[in-house]
Amino acid sequence: MHFLPDSSSLGCRIEGPHVHVRRRSNSSAYAKSRQSRWIPVEAETVALYADYRYERNETPEVASC
Ligand SMILES: [Zn+2]
Repeated sequence: MHFLPDSSSLGCRIEGPHVHVRRRSNSSAYAKSRQSRWIPVEAETVALYADYRYERNETPEVASC
């Protein structure tokens, strides 16, 4: 998952928040396609994921403006 507006520092050229879908053999759940792809993620979903991580104490509190 690349939820930053710009993931170029991670070596990814796709703009905006997105999720990479790749077939892996380490799980019984397979992606339908053999080809890797990516799916755009809406800002609201990114915010909900940040709330989830905060509620699980996985990230420090971020001051709001
Ligand atoms: Zn990416």
